[in-house]
Amino acid sequence: MRMHFVKTLSILTIVILLASCSKSSSTTTTDTSTSIAVPAVYLKIYGATSITNDGAYITIKTKDLPDHKSPYYASTNELYEAYTGTTFGGYTFNKNPNLIIEQSGTFKIPVNPKVDASHAATPLGPIGIALNGVAFFNQYAGPNQPLTSEITSFDKYYGHPQQSGVYHYHVEPLYLTTVKSTKSGLMGFLLDGFPVYGPQEEDGTVVTNSMLDDYHGHSHKTIDYPSGSYHYHFTNEAPYLNGSGFYGTPGTITQ
Ligand SMILES: [Zn+2]
Ligand SMILES: [Zn+2]
Repeated sequence: MRMHFVKTLSILTIVILLASCSKSSSTTTTDTSTSIAVPAVYLKIYGATSITNDGAYITIKTKDLPDHKSPYYASTNELYEAYTGTTFGGYTFNKNPNLIIEQSGTFKIPVNPKVDASHAATPLGPIGIALNGVAFFNQYAGPNQPLTSEITSFDKYYGHPQQSGVYHYHVEPLYLTTVKSTKSGLMGFLLDGFPVYGPQEEDGTVVTNSMLDDYHGHSHKTIDYPSGSYHYHFTNEAPYLNGSGFYGTPGTITQ
């Protein structure tokens, strides 16, 4: 009787040990693969579907759907809103024939951005990501074609979709600078990992091209980078966001 009890107890102990052992080892495995914290500044990208850090790159996934109203949403979408009026530069809005289409974009940007002397040219298509998950595009409408003819099709928040439905901003994202943040706030990141700020500095100074280098940025402290960082600025004059290429080594985008 006593022997039987001891035997039962020891079998029970082994079962409990095995159970707790397998539980703790699976927990540890999960932790090891996902425990690299995403620096707080990237978590400001509130429109992303996921943001992860593998130690070398921040991976940001996005559907590229603006969180504000636009005449480029299908009329059945709750964010559809017809628009007549003026847009960036005071031009009269002239809608293009495209509609916003959900994307599945993956931006991989260096977690420790570094200057790159080759200053690679920015590609056509996405060159960075805004806090609301919308893509940033450069200052060209096509190979070496100025943006001029496209500007009239920017909606009231200064974005528009291209032929395959990718909604994007070439200039100041007005919903971010006036509703979600301020004119001097963080707007997002270019693909090289350097941050993008609005068209003003924190003291209210309007940023002009003459205050920026060839890549459309400069370095100083900001609220998000108290020890200073290189950063791009939107300006009201061309090239608006980026000049002669990335300041740093760009990551990758897959769509
Ligand atoms: Zn465009
Ligand atoms: Zn600045």
